[in-house]
Amino acid sequence: MKPIVAIVGRPNVGKSMLFNKLIGKRLSIVEDTPGVTRDRIYGETDWNGRSFTLIDTGGIEPRTDDQILSFMRDQAQIAIENATVIIFLTDVRTGLTASDQEVAGMLLRSGKPIVLAVNKMDSTGAPDPDFYEFYNLGLGDPIAVSAVHGHGTGDLLDACLQYFPPEEEEEEEDDAIKVAVIGKPNAGKSSLVNKILGEERVIVSNVAGTTRDAIDSYFENDKGRFVFIDTAGIRRKFDATEGVTEQDTKVAGLAHEAGKASIIVVNKWDLIEKDGKTMDKMREEVRNGLAFMTYAPILFISAKTGQRVDRLFELIDYVSNQASTRITTGMLNSVLADAQTRVQPPSDKGRRLKIYYMTQVGIRPPHFVVFCNDSRLFHFSYQRYLENCLRNTFGLEGTPITLSIRQRGEKEG
Ligand code: GDP
Ligand code: GDP
Repeated sequence: MKPIVAIVGRPNVGKSMLFNKLIGKRLSIVEDTPGVTRDRIYGETDWNGRSFTLIDTGGIEPRTDDQILSFMRDQAQIAIENATVIIFLTDVRTGLTASDQEVAGMLLRSGKPIVLAVNKMDSTGAPDPDFYEFYNLGLGDPIAVSAVHGHGTGDLLDACLQYFPPEEEEEEEDDAIKVAVIGKPNAGKSSLVNKILGEERVIVSNVAGTTRDAIDSYFENDKGRFVFIDTAGIRRKFDATEGVTEQDTKVAGLAHEAGKASIIVVNKWDLIEKDGKTMDKMREEVRNGLAFMTYAPILFISAKTGQRVDRLFELIDYVSNQASTRITTGMLNSVLADAQTRVQPPSDKGRRLKIYYMTQVGIRPPHFVVFCNDSRLFHFSYQRYLENCLRNTFGLEGTPITLSIRQRGEKEG
């Protein structure tokens, strides 16, 4: 994964202007939902040959009951949690404020590396005396920048880069899709992998994997770049001749728990005596046996004859993309509003669950945080209902999703 740099600070210090300067093009604000001024905005850029993701947070107003401002604060908090480095942006025109001090406290508690920048230092030459106040934050030497003119942005990025992990660590995670073929003994895992590798003429290499007993097979074809990971140790898969066994359920559960995009492959299809209904019946059996994984597409293949093995690549590519889906907060919240209109959230002893809003915080698998008044009221059945609403609207086929529930004080909402 690329390093993530989050720009954090009070509203109006110039975060979005700095973001635009660093990204090098004007990005318009994608969100325009009433009550939600601004979602976190992501951009990709590079400096000195290192590429990274830059996040423009809406801004932190530490003490506020205002709905929009507390939404922005939550968003900033999420960005902080995911950041590699934080640019703490302040404003020389307002000088050091009590809110800056509080934001600094929040940032320090996150334990993330912080680069302090003082913005609106538009004139070069002797710094504005107010600049020196910012030493009082105890965050080291402030870097003077002007988001408008671009002064100081190079020094700022140099300071961020020193906290990036060594580049080698990133290269290992290139953009090839990693595929693990798992299943029970004799289900045909090696036959499948051999069939695939044998037929792909563009095998690049067999590289020793990171673990001692695994050999990863890397290759490319017109569907993409793939690494088949040899998973010695976990050996379970489905076999059409046996149906879904308890072992299958257990190992599929591991993939599900790990949040991996999955395809259910039913092998040895050539051995099955079929009539027109066999595939539907088998599909139903698989769905019943693996009820927690209804999102996973099912493919019937024969590793021996090669039947439908080529379809596998399209599916791998597809579920991998689905697992990387990003949905804007605006879209999520219209689904959320609709879902709550159709099925009222649960209540207990006269207290009803209030869901304020939902936002996506991660991919692979898609991870959503839902802010509510009381997480105890957020029963599993309502979570599952929301998950279904999300899937009905956005697909998310082949990937599990994660819902995290966060509780907030009622008055903040
Ligand atoms: P944000 O709320 O932190 O994202 O702040 P904005 O980027 O929206 O900027 C707030 C205001 O400060 C706008 O009026 C900007 O034009 C102004 N501003 C931002 N950066 C600079 C700067 O470097 N110099 C000056 N003079 N004004 C700036
Ligand atoms: P693994 O333990 O999951 O790696 O399974 P293997 O690939 O070693 O296969 C186990 C046995 O099933 C071998 O005898 C294979 O020839 C056979 N086999 C694998 N796939 C198929 C298939 O699609 N059709 C048939 N008829 N036999 C298969």
